[in-house]
Amino acid sequence: MLGEEEMALVKRLVSSYYRASTSVTTDRIGQREFGVGSFERKIAFRHLSFGSAAELKSYLVREAPPYVSYSSSYYASPSARPMERKGWLGAELVFDLDATDMDLQCQKVHGKGWICRNCLDSVKAEAIKLVEDFLVPDFGFAKGSISINFSGNRGYHVHVHNDATLSLDSAARKEITDYIAGIGVEMQEFFPTLGMRGRQLSGPRPTDRGWGGKMARHLLSAAGRGVDALAALGIDRKTAGIIYRKRALIELGIKSGNWDMVYIKNKAEFWKTIMGNLTVRQSDRIDRNVTNDTSHLIRLPNTIHGETGLVAKVVGSVSDLERFDPMKDAIAFRGEELMIEAHTDFELYMNGTRFGPYGGRIRVPAYVALYLCLKGRAKLLQSKH
Ligand SMILES: [Zn+2]
Repeated sequence: MLGEEEMALVKRLVSSYYRASTSVTTDRIGQREFGVGSFERKIAFRHLSFGSAAELKSYLVREAPPYVSYSSSYYASPSARPMERKGWLGAELVFDLDATDMDLQCQKVHGKGWICRNCLDSVKAEAIKLVEDFLVPDFGFAKGSISINFSGNRGYHVHVHNDATLSLDSAARKEITDYIAGIGVEMQEFFPTLGMRGRQLSGPRPTDRGWGGKMARHLLSAAGRGVDALAALGIDRKTAGIIYRKRALIELGIKSGNWDMVYIKNKAEFWKTIMGNLTVRQSDRIDRNVTNDTSHLIRLPNTIHGETGLVAKVVGSVSDLERFDPMKDAIAFRGEELMIEAHTDFELYMNGTRFGPYGGRIRVPAYVALYLCLKGRAKLLQSKH
């Protein structure tokens, strides 16, 4: 829980951020539903609407809410309620990727409440995979129609702006998320002789469309890069070593559809594991709702996230995403130092500098102070008003 003085400080900083900002807006703003949060609830009020970016801005400067969300849907009357009276006109296709849904090794050390550099790098790789391996090649979306923003905390939001997807209903959106998660994809479809004793394992070629070609391309690419790359696909290191040594032979085989060039035990399980590692890990419960449930509200790009003080920063393109460092590029509050009482178990990297671990009083940049206070790991000891 934040103390009163901390809440007053956050409000002052958030308000001045919105006063200076020119990037907090969206297309078709008058057709979007907005929701704002308090420190206790990420969405405390919804059914709000704004006629223009200027109207939105003056609201944000005045109220300085810790969270701002908007609908991926467009409505004729976005502030009408209940939902049925809004007059649904269509919805963007949005994907929510969150590091806490990924079961990372580092999370066993620092827990799900803390975000480390590996968490952020892993979820970034997941966002790149979603775009490069699925949205562009399999669904045919142009890269220019895809926008990406940092969630403000521990993930990324990927928005597809394409007229053909606007009117998709929840069932159609679910088919898309199922495909990307590899749900309902049958291995027999592209390995027809899988499980037939004494038969050669014939399988997909790298030029094939969809999941089959994806598996062939990723296996060959990993085989060319070495044992670590193969192990990252979930292959045990012994088998990975064999595949790496015999990679030329394997490549020759797979290019002609013969996947039996080396002996592999429990083939069905083996290829299933690889496929599992190629899927994009959206959460099972909540985050797929972001895509499938068109009444869901999602963080408005370039607004402040009340659990970190970071900006849900828009990243220009997929290639910009490779270089994007959220703990540096999404910093909102620079310029002043604050005294805090902090207790942290792990290092925090912000703005290219290591902070902590701390066990006591320390003077740190405002963005570090805010991050730790909002994460409940520090208390503010003084603030200017
Ligand atoms: Zn981590």
